[in-house]
Amino acid sequence: MTISKGDVVAIDYVLRDGKGVQIDASAGEPMTYLHGYGNIVPGLEGALDGAAVGSSHEVVVAPHDGYGEHDPEQVKQVPRKMLPKELELKHGTELMVRSPDGNSFGVRVVNYDREHVWLDANHPLAGITLHFSVTIRSSRAASPEELAHGHVHGPGGHHG
Ligand code: ZN
Repeated sequence: MTISKGDVVAIDYVLRDGKGVQIDASAGEPMTYLHGYGNIVPGLEGALDGAAVGSSHEVVVAPHDGYGEHDPEQVKQVPRKMLPKELELKHGTELMVRSPDGNSFGVRVVNYDREHVWLDANHPLAGITLHFSVTIRSSRAASPEELAHGHVHGPGGHHG
């Protein structure tokens, strides 16, 4: 049995960066996703297309097939006094900010000095080459509702 578009696939995975440091992993039970609908990064989805249930794969995904390149334009310097006084400034501190058009989005503190803070709105994994170790545990055909919604329903799914 091999994986193709419209299958609900369960995988165990470990994600590491280029230095072998673990970034993420399926915890306890496999992660399920609807294959072929862009629910996982394109580089991994493409690598698993046609793969057999039970097989294991080492997949290296370049940033442009992962979470995108790191865009320096998305790093903004703001006056420190614009941020809440109680905020503990550390590299990697995450906060939500509101754009002039009212949208909220997450940023991370990447640098600061006495008067300024540099906030990075890139995805935390932007610019990183992703090293996945994946084992395909199972696969089933998606229900018509799942196909219509473009994601998995039920236990292990993402419906909210
Ligand atoms: Zn749904």
